[in-house]
Amino acid sequence: MAAGGHSTDYSTLRVDGARLWASLEEMARIGATGRGGCDRQALSDADRAGRDQFTRWARALGCAVTVDQIGNLFARRPGLKPQAAPVLIGSHLDTQATGGRFDGVYGVLAGLEVLHTLADNALHTERPIEVANWTNEEGCRFAPAMLGSGVVAGEFDLAYAYARTDRDGRSVGEELARIGYLGELPARAREFAAVFELHIEQGPILEATNTTIGVVTGIQGAYWLDVTLIGKACHAGPTPMEARRDPWRAALPIIDGAYALAAKLAPDARATIGDVKIFPGARNTVPERLIVCVDLRHPEAAQLDLMAAQFRDFSARFAAAAGIDARVDTIWHMPPTQFDAALIGLIGRSAAALGYRHRPIVSGAGHDSLYTARFAPTAMIFVPCRDGLSHNEAEEALPADLEAGANVLLQAVLEESGRS
Ligand SMILES: [Zn+2]
Repeated sequence: MAAGGHSTDYSTLRVDGARLWASLEEMARIGATGRGGCDRQALSDADRAGRDQFTRWARALGCAVTVDQIGNLFARRPGLKPQAAPVLIGSHLDTQATGGRFDGVYGVLAGLEVLHTLADNALHTERPIEVANWTNEEGCRFAPAMLGSGVVAGEFDLAYAYARTDRDGRSVGEELARIGYLGELPARAREFAAVFELHIEQGPILEATNTTIGVVTGIQGAYWLDVTLIGKACHAGPTPMEARRDPWRAALPIIDGAYALAAKLAPDARATIGDVKIFPGARNTVPERLIVCVDLRHPEAAQLDLMAAQFRDFSARFAAAAGIDARVDTIWHMPPTQFDAALIGLIGRSAAALGYRHRPIVSGAGHDSLYTARFAPTAMIFVPCRDGLSHNEAEEALPADLEAGANVLLQAVLEESGRS
């Protein structure tokens, strides 16, 4: 850290909360919906306008802005040691179709506010600092979500990403070119000293516990399991109850068992039965076949694997007891993400030094940090949002909380970028 040749106590530095709030309001005008939210879906005209605004702000701060092959934007503030691995602050400017003003946007604009604060104080860090806008985090126009960070992490190859289409058949590749954000920087992992993502919680825990800062320890993992239960179709009237092979007789204890599993591993475990497909699906016919769609989640890999194993085990037992044939298929498995222990510690210390109430928290939702954690030390900072509401035009957060989160980010970034 150098400041005009003399040392500075950078622990007293603070962001400008009013300026951060004003930038959030200005970005929210781009793609504004009638009900106070935003529609800046990935690679739309509104997304282009948001990217243009980000680029103007970053250039005004003296940053070089580069675009990679999947449209990820990187605004780079030089460091005193240009060859040193940069510190990255990243999130996303794209929104859901009826999205809020803070999800993702806050993390990107707080990154620019950190750079603004450094510029105001004529501070130069040893490492370069970059602020990233990842492409198509939301996944609502183009599936899958977290596409831009996923390509960089090697989860998706570029050809696959370009070929994703929206419901009108327009592809990611075409739309990147159309809005002028098909870049040349290879969409591959580079070396970063640290990656930070600041985000609203999108859940109720911080607000309910009157906590300002969530020190995010990781992102919970998930198993998507489909249970297929096969019985025998028959008439709902003439067939005596004891003469039936009704797959519901297996489905009900299996569903109960899923909830019991989550209760046994409370409060971290989640079990959701989000869909049941019924064949043939007629009121007066005992179904021949049911497919029960189960979503199991836990932040620890061992516990999550145990949940899936136990679920498979009791599904087989309950089905056998009911005389029903059963099969459990894994549709998707996302292992839990554990963030970098040193960065988690740093965020907690920064929050404590700033006097903010803080607590560890696990992210229930996926974020770009899930993928950056695969190639760089990564951690996240959460702030509360009203009623835990997100992916909704009524999404709301308090200016004081947003300022606090950005101050924690500033201190953590200073710590990581000051020394090399
Ligand atoms: Zn987000």
